[in-house]
Amino acid sequence: MALGRSPWIDDELAMLQEHVARFIEAEFTPHVPRWRKDRMMDRAAWLKAGEAGLLCASIPEIYGGGGGSYAHEAVIHQEMTRAGHGTGFGVGNSTSSAVVAHYILAYGTEDQKQRWLPKMAQGELIGAIAMTEPQGGSDLKALRTTARRVAGGYQINGQKTFISNGQNANLVTVVARTGDEPGARGLSLIVVETDQADGFRRGRNLDKLGMHTQDTSELFFDDVFAPSSNLIGELPGQAFSQLMHELAWERMLVSLDATVNMERAVELTVDYVRTRNIFGKTLMDFQNTQFVLADAKTQATVARTFVDGMMVRLLAGELDGPTAAMAKLWTTETQCRVIDACQQLFGGYGYMSEYPIAQLFADARVSRVYGGASEIMKVIIARAL
Ligand SMILES: Cc1cc2nc3c(=O)[nH]c(=O)nc-3n(C[C@H](O)[C@H](O)[C@H](O)COP(=O)(O)OP(=O)(O)OC[C@H]3O[C@@H](n4cnc5c(N)ncnc54)[C@H](O)[C@@H]3O)c2cc1C
Repeated sequence: MALGRSPWIDDELAMLQEHVARFIEAEFTPHVPRWRKDRMMDRAAWLKAGEAGLLCASIPEIYGGGGGSYAHEAVIHQEMTRAGHGTGFGVGNSTSSAVVAHYILAYGTEDQKQRWLPKMAQGELIGAIAMTEPQGGSDLKALRTTARRVAGGYQINGQKTFISNGQNANLVTVVARTGDEPGARGLSLIVVETDQADGFRRGRNLDKLGMHTQDTSELFFDDVFAPSSNLIGELPGQAFSQLMHELAWERMLVSLDATVNMERAVELTVDYVRTRNIFGKTLMDFQNTQFVLADAKTQATVARTFVDGMMVRLLAGELDGPTAAMAKLWTTETQCRVIDACQQLFGGYGYMSEYPIAQLFADARVSRVYGGASEIMKVIIARAL
């Protein structure tokens, strides 16, 4: 009944998949209970991941990366999600390697690429993207953080929130207003190298419902100076189009997560109901259980087929924004329904944090909000009708 290998995974990627799974088991799994308690991974784990070639896998070798494609990045992302470790490295690495590094690769100057990408690939620099502000995240055009032109660079003032890698990041790509133009036209991407930025302050590591190995924080900028050479792109005012360019890819990463989570939920639940005995038979013997799981398995299989098809398109450079939005909308909404139905079969145990199904339930919820809320996905899809 299994679908077999995804069409976008060849022999080399299958080997990478095994390498990542072995690495996670040896280097991450033993530390996960502590990371869950600390609500973040160790910085040292990033260096280990760098040594193992798991950072910037899709960045060219001349910039210290793995020389692979988005497929390599997607394999690493999926394996981390499959390991079910509170999405610390999955979200963290994809933010740094698959998103921030790609803004630099696509729009950065040669000097920026040489300065930052090799260190990101080693884990010495960890990237974050700081868009969201307390007064709103969906409405990017309303962002208030300013980057005022001063001699030799920009002076940044403002506050960001919900920033992934917020505690560990030391290369923060800030979306800031560099011009007086209203809406999106005045927004630019400016890198703040936080190890040397006076006026930069991290707020709390926010206590989240799930994703307990991932640091998510507020960030504060009080007269932070960034040199002109840290502006991403030739000219200011380009942030909106730069951000939009990578959005289909970011949404595919969330869709891959959702798909893997559905597959895992079904596996975990099948294992559980086969061994749980009630009313003199196994829970699997009840027709309701079989129907719930048949439905869940069908949805996971449809999701896998859909997402694999979208990955093929993405790798061919043919995935458009509205279709990527459909993938994110459908897989994330379906994921929450599937996990909820599976969790019900665990009874009270499904509500206990030590059970992976409970962790999945908590981890998955955010996927309908971050990377663009479901309602924003509908706006994008509706606009293209
Ligand atoms: C764990 C986590 C990690 C995150 N990581 C990052 C990060 O690394 N960098 C970053 O910049 N941000 C990050 N975010 C922020 C995330 O992108 C925002 O939370 C998201 O964009 C929604 O913005 P908001 O929370 O301000 O909600 P709002 O914009 O206030 O929206 C609230 C709700 O209003 C509804 N809504 C919004 N717009 C519309 C509309 N047009 N039509 C109808 N209904 C609408 C939706 O239901 C939405 O969920 C993260 C968030 C979380 C929770």
